[in-house]
Amino acid sequence: MKFTYINYGEDIVENLQERMDTIYVFSDYGLKNTYKKSLKKNIFKGVPTILTFDEFKEKVFKTDKIILREAKRFISFFNGVKKELYELLAMESYYDVIDFADSFFRYYKELNEAMIEDIKNPQPWQEKYINNFKYLKKKYDVYLERKNYILMDWIYKKENIDLDFIKPYKKIIFIDIMDFTPLEKEVIRRIQGNLEIEFLLQISREDYSEENLTIDSVTLPEKKNYIEVYEVSEDIEELLTLETLREKSGGGEVYTPDISRNRYHKILPKIYLESTSAVLNDTVLYKFLKTQYDLIASLESRLNYKLPLLELKIALDNLEFREVYSINNEDLKELYNLLDEDYTYLNENGSEKFQYIYGELLKINEFTKVDDFVRYFKEDLNLEKFYEKEYENLFEKFYEAVTLAKTSEYMLGEEEFKKCFSKGSDIYKLILQYMNNIEINRVKATYEEGEKKVIVRDMEGAKNRIGRNTYFVDISSKTLPGNLGKRSLFSENQRKENNLSTKDKNRELAKHKFFQGVFNSKNTYIIYRKNEGKGEDISPFLTEIMETYNIKVNKKIIKEEAILKNLQNIYMGIPVKLDYTDDTLPKTNGDFPNEQCRIGAYDYDTLENCEYRFYLNKISEIEPLVKEWNKNISMKFLGIYVHSVLEKVIDNTWKNIVFENNFYVDEEWIEKLLLDYFFYNRDKIPVHLDNYFKEILIPRFRDNILKLFKELERTYSDKKIRRFESEKVNWDNREPFVDDEIKFYITGRVDFILESLGENLILDFKTGKKQDKQLDFYSILLYGDENKATKGIYNVFNGELEYSEKVELTRESLKESIINFLKKDTYSLSEKKSSCMYCEYMNICRRDF
Ligand code: SF4
Repeated sequence: MKFTYINYGEDIVENLQERMDTIYVFSDYGLKNTYKKSLKKNIFKGVPTILTFDEFKEKVFKTDKIILREAKRFISFFNGVKKELYELLAMESYYDVIDFADSFFRYYKELNEAMIEDIKNPQPWQEKYINNFKYLKKKYDVYLERKNYILMDWIYKKENIDLDFIKPYKKIIFIDIMDFTPLEKEVIRRIQGNLEIEFLLQISREDYSEENLTIDSVTLPEKKNYIEVYEVSEDIEELLTLETLREKSGGGEVYTPDISRNRYHKILPKIYLESTSAVLNDTVLYKFLKTQYDLIASLESRLNYKLPLLELKIALDNLEFREVYSINNEDLKELYNLLDEDYTYLNENGSEKFQYIYGELLKINEFTKVDDFVRYFKEDLNLEKFYEKEYENLFEKFYEAVTLAKTSEYMLGEEEFKKCFSKGSDIYKLILQYMNNIEINRVKATYEEGEKKVIVRDMEGAKNRIGRNTYFVDISSKTLPGNLGKRSLFSENQRKENNLSTKDKNRELAKHKFFQGVFNSKNTYIIYRKNEGKGEDISPFLTEIMETYNIKVNKKIIKEEAILKNLQNIYMGIPVKLDYTDDTLPKTNGDFPNEQCRIGAYDYDTLENCEYRFYLNKISEIEPLVKEWNKNISMKFLGIYVHSVLEKVIDNTWKNIVFENNFYVDEEWIEKLLLDYFFYNRDKIPVHLDNYFKEILIPRFRDNILKLFKELERTYSDKKIRRFESEKVNWDNREPFVDDEIKFYITGRVDFILESLGENLILDFKTGKKQDKQLDFYSILLYGDENKATKGIYNVFNGELEYSEKVELTRESLKESIINFLKKDTYSLSEKKSSCMYCEYMNICRRDF
């Protein structure tokens, strides 16, 4: 075997001769095509045999069995060992099995590649897994044999090596293939007697083990090219830095270690094209179907398939989904209102459009066959509207995926299919699984004369940029080396001992690929990302280069504040002025309709903390831009729930208390009341919290309501009570609290008032945090003075009654702060920035953060 070593910076294919008796095997398509393009066309001579390594393997591993790919592998596994899976692992459904089957397939693929039957020295806990695998493999092999099937993953094994293909040749050259599995080495060993073998490698002789046919280490070469490094933190900053560099340095190709996350074509479609290969997942059709599936899968079976509103919101965040159902801003507003009102599920009050979407979901969930979907796609969905002119064979590939799902239906048989895929959502998932990552062709882009488009490419291809400019983007600790570890049962040491691929080896290979790209170009520009919030830091490979050659990070090209301006410059050629610094908001009497303003305790709290927020919230009534709804019960809803129940209890007891001093309340009646309100609010309570609500909250609220009445009885049973009331106060006829150019009224609803001879009690019922000045505010509101009532907070969660000892707000200070506010010409921002932390107006606030 001959080994030829090429230096970094030299062209690895330059000196390859063109011989018809030689098989040329390249590490990847890019390199293969570079060589192919360099060949002189000669129709008499023909073209030599040029293959990628994967193509070569397809030629030397042969099978006459039926090859199962993708989801068919899982179906066959489930079908073949269903009984055993249930007995051994209690797995019942097809979808239970998928993760397990994936590890099972990978385990035997690795054993085949390592040419071993068993793992040496497994730990006792691993033996259990391995024994399960062995048992299932034995049974599954019988099934595969009977059906004459073989899994795509398992074709590459010793028994399937067939060297017929190499017979007409004299020589084989492996170009840029840096590492071989034991099985691949076995192929080479068997070829050795028949063909002359050469390895062409771009690495230093000392870094490569000829004996083991793999990289030992990756050392840096003597630096001969020019390298510049830049640091950025965000996508747009990265793109603008790149554009500035390309402009300055005369263009060149752009490479990334993670092509899937690059979005330049979306930000600057005039300059950047999407990469040439596309998958079905990129299409509007897939995105719509996936969103629709997610919604069906979220239907709550425990509540007769109700639709969770948060899931509907997520679906409507998806542009494709909105367009198909013609969802407009009014519809979105309606959904947000329902969420604001704490609805968890769509009820009959939802608009016609929402009911229509919901109806479709229920209909699809009833489907029992793949054909039901085919009919739905053809007749109801009107696939034409998903046509995208940039793809050549979108519908062809889509129907290919649906046909594969049909084949699975056929493989399982009608009865078995029904058992595996009992609901429409299960079949939908299967169809999506077949669509996943299916490659489709993008129509070749046409260019205007003189127009230059850029495609960001996978880093693999950077090594072919001999003597030219190369730009690397998205370089960070997250992408380089990235996540190298495949999920595995075994430790790194066990992998080494058993000849399986190791993280260390994969790391060296990734490093070598990066170094080839960096050192093969004439001028290399590397833009790396550092963003603590996103967990991104400089890549260790880049650090090694910078430290070795003493390369410093270049000064930032783009200032953050100028990003928008630069982007528009590039896109439109129109400069924009960004130096808006005025953060004041003028206040006029026109802000107060009818020269009046009414504020409650919460409004006053807002006014005191931030007048600007008061303006946005109270005067302009602007809805916050970003609202956070979550899948749990909101504190607001719990507050309303508890207040409603307490209001009812107080309404039912006041007569007994005022006329008879009888504080008795029936425990069972309270519990029933709490349960009645629970069912009344059924659409607002997520079903996963039912038990928590019924078993924990309701008994707790019941006991604490009883405790409150006991406490009131203890203090007031010997006193004459004149008033025992809840939330029934109407303050519309009162005099203004401040009577100036603007009449300022204070208003509010007090949770509970008790008046006895010579004593007033104000209580606020709380389920959340208390507000300091609220009780004084109510005392001033009800009795004109902060000292005319005993005030307390009753926490219905923990049953604690806390009396307020200290006065936080006096009538005078309340008046003074309102007068001061009225005198001002502007709405000021909050004094401390810390108040802004949870402010829902942060995005539209004029404060410079
Ligand atoms: S972000 Fe701060 S300054 Fe701006 S409105 Fe909110 S609290 Fe006021």
